[in-house]
Amino acid sequence: MSRTILVTGGGTGIGRAIARHFSDQNETVIVTGRRPGTLDALAAETSVRPLVCDHTDPEALLRLVTKLPERVDVLVNNAGGNIAFDADGKTDLAAFARDFRANLDANLISAALTTRALNDHLAPGGAVIHIGSIAADQGADSYGASKAGLATWNLSLADALGPRDITANVVAPGYITDTEFFRDQLSDERRATLIAATSTGRPGTPADIAGAVAFLASPAARHITGQVLNVNGGARKTR
Ligand code: NDP
Repeated sequence: MSRTILVTGGGTGIGRAIARHFSDQNETVIVTGRRPGTLDALAAETSVRPLVCDHTDPEALLRLVTKLPERVDVLVNNAGGNIAFDADGKTDLAAFARDFRANLDANLISAALTTRALNDHLAPGGAVIHIGSIAADQGADSYGASKAGLATWNLSLADALGPRDITANVVAPGYITDTEFFRDQLSDERRATLIAATSTGRPGTPADIAGAVAFLASPAARHITGQVLNVNGGARKTR
């Protein structure tokens, strides 16, 4: 029987690859994001169902759940990104607070709100999978802090969902270059340094992440919960 999979931020990059993977397996896939254009483009190529939602907005999430089927088997909290943050350390305190909170909202609070909003839809035998980041182990200011917080909060989520036979895990990508996110954030020099610090000597691809998510959502992974699966080519610390 086909499962229902919800991929947040599924219109681009890693989320798009995850949505495509499940759609290719004939699962029922719903993708969300704030820009209808990217969602509609994917829907035109696949059978995914696009729904516009800002996952930092509780009201928008309450509207989203009214459009969902009763049962969601797999929730992939992928929406997020690194909000430009105090790069030169010279922003005033109000701007610092705004940007710090924006990263927590985008990556940590959005995943918690989404999981909470979908609580009654999450089905036994299902899985919640968050997209974390190698940044959680490498600093990276408020972005890294938001992804580290995601992994810590997930421990409580795993305890809460375990009795309902629902797993909760984090997939933590390394450097996935074929995304808007990576292109916008790093200089060519920094990119080369990061790739040189991997065992595989190559950046990851969105498909690498989709494969790990598919495994954690599969019957083979039913006794894996509360974990962080690093998918980073054996990346070593570069700071
Ligand atoms: P993208 O920018 O391509 O994807 C992010 C997606 O999230 C977009 O489709 C965006 O769509 C959506 N999104 C962002 N904020 C919201 C929101 N508030 N509500 C709804 N949708 C939102 O980059 P990636 O594919 O690289 O990023 C996917 C995830 O992977 C992120 O969580 C990122 O932190 C993580 N990651 C990426 C790495 C990389 O190297 N690329 C490394 C480690 C982690 P829209 O703007 O239309 O809302």
